Amino acid sequence: MEMTQAPKEVVTTRVDAECIVLGDDTAGVILDCHGGLMAPGAPGGEGLQDLMLDSYREAGFIDLRPMLEVHDGGGLDLSTIPPTQGDQVRACLMGNKLSLTGPGGELLTGMRLGFTPHWYRYAARGALIVVVGRHLTGMVADDDKHLIRAMAMGQTVGATVPLTVRRPGRNSACPCAMRTGRKFKHCCGRPGALQEKPK
Ligand SMILES: [Zn+2]
Repeated sequence: MEMTQAPKEVVTTRVDAECIVLGDDTAGVILDCHGGLMAPGAPGGEGLQDLMLDSYREAGFIDLRPMLEVHDGGGLDLSTIPPTQGDQVRACLMGNKLSLTGPGGELLTGMRLGFTPHWYRYAARGALIVVVGRHLTGMVADDDKHLIRAMAMGQTVGATVPLTVRRPGRNSACPCAMRTGRKFKHCCGRPGALQEKPK
């Protein structure tokens, strides 16, 4: 455990985000939470209330631990995470900033994402798989062992949520992570970009 101090009553939270294509063709985002734990009683890690994950659970995100059993030995497939009940959660991507809204209010506000044109093309289809976890340590696309460990510990939740992509102006700098300085219309916003099969 990295935690060396007793958690405080007033907690700060931080979220790191990773954009990843799940399955063959669905945009996903992995949110790694730090902080947001509250100790109702004595410090020590037992009985900590996880304010971050609880807020997503309340919005209808499911525990991902059972997915480990289903896909035992067959490699992790997060592309089958089901949607929340009744469209209660919505995602909006404006430029490179992602917001998530649940029935109880905002879950995530203006989180900056770094994505490739490839990911953006899939996101524009209107669905986003959101995985929220703790101690995910590094890029899941490179190495999923930390994610698998967090799943086994019941420290991940997920859902597929409807995504609205608000495209930037054609002449705006492209919001993707390629940092080529290209205008949107020459990068992720190219006509036909959605139809292309990325390679
Ligand atoms: Zn771009």
